[in-house]
Amino acid sequence: MSDHYAVIGNPISQSKSPLIHAGFAQATGQDLVYGAILGPTESTEAFAQALRDFAATGGRGMNVTAPFKLQAFALATEKLERAELAGATNALKFEGDAIIADNFDGVGLVNDIQRNLGVALAGKRLLLLGAGGAARGAVLPLLAEGPAELVVANRDLAKAQALAARFAAHGRMVGCGYGEIAGERFDVVINATSASLNGELPPLAAPAVRPDGLAYEMVYGKGLTPFLRQAQAHGVRQIADGVGMLVEQAALAFEWWRGVRPQTQAMIRQLTVPLV
Ligand code: NDP
Repeated sequence: MSDHYAVIGNPISQSKSPLIHAGFAQATGQDLVYGAILGPTESTEAFAQALRDFAATGGRGMNVTAPFKLQAFALATEKLERAELAGATNALKFEGDAIIADNFDGVGLVNDIQRNLGVALAGKRLLLLGAGGAARGAVLPLLAEGPAELVVANRDLAKAQALAARFAAHGRMVGCGYGEIAGERFDVVINATSASLNGELPPLAAPAVRPDGLAYEMVYGKGLTPFLRQAQAHGVRQIADGVGMLVEQAALAFEWWRGVRPQTQAMIRQLTVPLV
């Protein structure tokens, strides 16, 4: 019988994970089935039961998407370092009674920026916009690349400061509000807010990225978002959305589960929506 995997979220019909993992399985000759589960939001116990049911029927691993990344983390019996520090998981492995949690969002982001987009992060000034779950997952892998500085700006200042305090031992990091970065320029600016999902722009009068820098939007499949449009209008040379991050984190989870690393380029091309 094929091994079973799935992504759990609510809503879930928009998820590209089944398509990505089916493509990876075909390309690497792995015998597996990957489905999509609409997770229950009425209670933590109902969500925990959905995980137990999946594992009991032979489920080997799961991707976790919004709004369950924190709940799944809390239910895990073993937490690997990236998940532990982020306080969230996007990938689970089921082994006997154990539920092991990792978090590949941030490493997927770093791999996309460095390998696919060719932008080295060491020694650079980095700005992360937002302090939600996606930003939390990104911090440790970004700091691991040795940037000159990582600044996190958020509307809710306390969340940015809490994030900076949480990772203080791992690199040079500052948490602030948007007002404090007005007029500053960074080599790489990553929009980890959900503003673009509502067609909104984080409160930046100018893009905050140098013209020869990179403006990176975590949201994917939306074309030119207000954040990317602003960067383009100010002559920023390189802009990208989060499709590469999505595919790279999926490849890392696939390797964790199956021991084989799929190629990502063809899948990124297949899912790319032009930035126009
Ligand atoms: P959360 O809900 O946890 O956090 C949302 C963040 O966005 C908060 O920091 C919030 O600020 C900020 N925000 C929302 N609206 C605005 C606005 N108009 N202006 C400024 N800041 C705003 O979401 P996640 O962190 O889980 O996800 C963030 C985005 O990243 C999502 O759009 C998601 O689609 C994308 N994502 C992409 C992935 C990929 O693989 N490409 C993977 C994971 C996420 P405040 O705290 O002040 O309210």
